[in-house]
Amino acid sequence: MIMRKAIYPGTFDPITNGHINILEKATRLFDEIVLAVANITGKDTLFSTEERLYLCQESVKHIKEVKVVSFDGLVVDFAREIDAVTMIRGLRAVSDFEYELQLALMNKNVYQKIDTVFLVPDSQYLYLSSSIVRQVIGLGGRLHDHIPQIVEDAIIRRFQEKNLKDLKG
Ligand code: ADP
Repeated sequence: MIMRKAIYPGTFDPITNGHINILEKATRLFDEIVLAVANITGKDTLFSTEERLYLCQESVKHIKEVKVVSFDGLVVDFAREIDAVTMIRGLRAVSDFEYELQLALMNKNVYQKIDTVFLVPDSQYLYLSSSIVRQVIGLGGRLHDHIPQIVEDAIIRRFQEKNLKDLKG
């Protein structure tokens, strides 16, 4: 039997129910999905790679087809390394499309074997992004319906630590 393996790469800073919704849909199409957390050092992330990895692991442990790992460098190089020829990306509003198309074509250029599959989330997740989640919680809002509890707790803690640091100067 041929294993249908796909890679779902991203920053996941942090993972949201929108990402999880895409993963659940992907399990109907693939036997194994590698959730690949980018080990980004240049970009200013709220969580370290280890923290993002942990939050992803905890948030998707109920989906048996998903394996969570981190990767360095080019995602296509990592896809080749793990023998994945399909990349999953989520498409929300039209605004995602231009960038995602560019990325898909560039990835194909670098690694001929890779194809991108776009999945559209359920409508309640169409306007959800990691950055909006960070902003809302940073300003004191709560988002139980949009992120796993463990993620909400982690963001609240992170902002408390940040505020304490700012107070101390
Ligand atoms: P990146 O830094 O690569 O954009 P993200 O962690 O922001 O990584 O997102 C990873 C993938 O998940 C991207 O394809 C993004 O479009 C998709 N995604 C993020 N949020 C949602 C959502 N609410 N619904 C559907 N797809 C989403």
